[in-house]
Amino acid sequence: MFNRVPGTKDILPDQVRWWQDIERTSRKIFSIHNYQEIRPPLIEDAALFTRSLGEATEIVQKQMFIIKREEDLYALRPEGTASIVRAYLENNLDKTGSFVKFYYMGPMFRAERPQKGRLRQFHHIGVEAIGSKEPEIDVEVIALADTLLKAYSIQGYSILINSLGCPKDKKELTRILRDNLKDKLEQLCPDCQARFDKNVFRILDCKNESCQNIVSQINIGNTYLCPDCAVHFQRVKAGLDSLGIKYETSPKLVRGLDYYTRTVFEFKHGQLGLQQDALGAGGRYDALVKELGGPETGAIGFAFGVERLNLAAGTPEAALKDNLVYLVTLGEQARFQGLKILADLRQAGIKADTDYENKSLKAAMRKANDLGAGFVLILGDDELKDNAVMVKDMKNSTQEKVPLDKLGDYLANKGKS
Ligand SMILES: [Zn+2]
Ligand SMILES: [Zn+2]
Repeated sequence: MFNRVPGTKDILPDQVRWWQDIERTSRKIFSIHNYQEIRPPLIEDAALFTRSLGEATEIVQKQMFIIKREEDLYALRPEGTASIVRAYLENNLDKTGSFVKFYYMGPMFRAERPQKGRLRQFHHIGVEAIGSKEPEIDVEVIALADTLLKAYSIQGYSILINSLGCPKDKKELTRILRDNLKDKLEQLCPDCQARFDKNVFRILDCKNESCQNIVSQINIGNTYLCPDCAVHFQRVKAGLDSLGIKYETSPKLVRGLDYYTRTVFEFKHGQLGLQQDALGAGGRYDALVKELGGPETGAIGFAFGVERLNLAAGTPEAALKDNLVYLVTLGEQARFQGLKILADLRQAGIKADTDYENKSLKAAMRKANDLGAGFVLILGDDELKDNAVMVKDMKNSTQEKVPLDKLGDYLANKGKS
């Protein structure tokens, strides 16, 4: 017997229904907002992520699934943004489309120590709007994420926003953080001591209690934003206000990836029971397109962790039973005749199935019940003789003999009532 790889999951049919609902809802809402789907490959040149996420980030240092083939290093994608910007540039969409709005959904891979809510293969649903620096697209993207969460029937989340400013402002913010932390370096955990030089922003996310205490005493202020960035942030907030979207400004929300600039945001949920309490997050990455060889242009996106959404949605209600029509045949001749009946029903668009395990009538009826069948058709010698089937209405516990040539219409009408 084989076991699945640690940190991966089998999404079984009774759960897949929830996934399909989430995906269907997302597609509908993306479409209304005029976002188009993009499907980049799951595997990329490893250097793409090193370059865009930053050498010092935890993802690049510890979490990438690297595949070595002769001289080449590939990585299973740990996130979507870098791949999509790569696709945007490689397919010359910067020249033909200029401003584009993409959405994507699919698996991501990170070689983490598996724990609750942290998988090695997990799923993202996200968007990237590339080619604009206007604050109004920030508003659209945050509002879109909010609309999605509402459509998923997820409650109890809050929206945190912040602005990191342009790269110059980020340097200033880095300086402020280092100034505030340098005297307390010894009280930080060993990870954070290393982060102090490499990626001081990450200290703000540390879950270590002593680090959190120190972080809570830092007063960042907002003086690090240059006038342009301050205006941009103001317009984002004004736009969200005008749409009635509630948010909290959180000066300590920084996001650990190098590519983020200006607006960053997070959807926090208190009841996930995880170390990480974000359903999803995103932000601007105005420098990334150029960094990857494209023109100077703005971009913004977000992604939800679908497994997180699943935790927040609680145990989904038992899947709604379909109006399955289940055929039970008695004897070899009936079974043969049943093939044609099934084919005709399916041809008419009626969901139909039969017993392939040669069960007794009683066991087959039990199976039909387990499957949630709305109707059971019984085909025995008597029915064969009359060119009919016995139709059992499982909900009303009634039964009626129906001629085969009327069966499709009969079931279609019953299904409507
Ligand atoms: Zn600035
Ligand atoms: Zn720490």
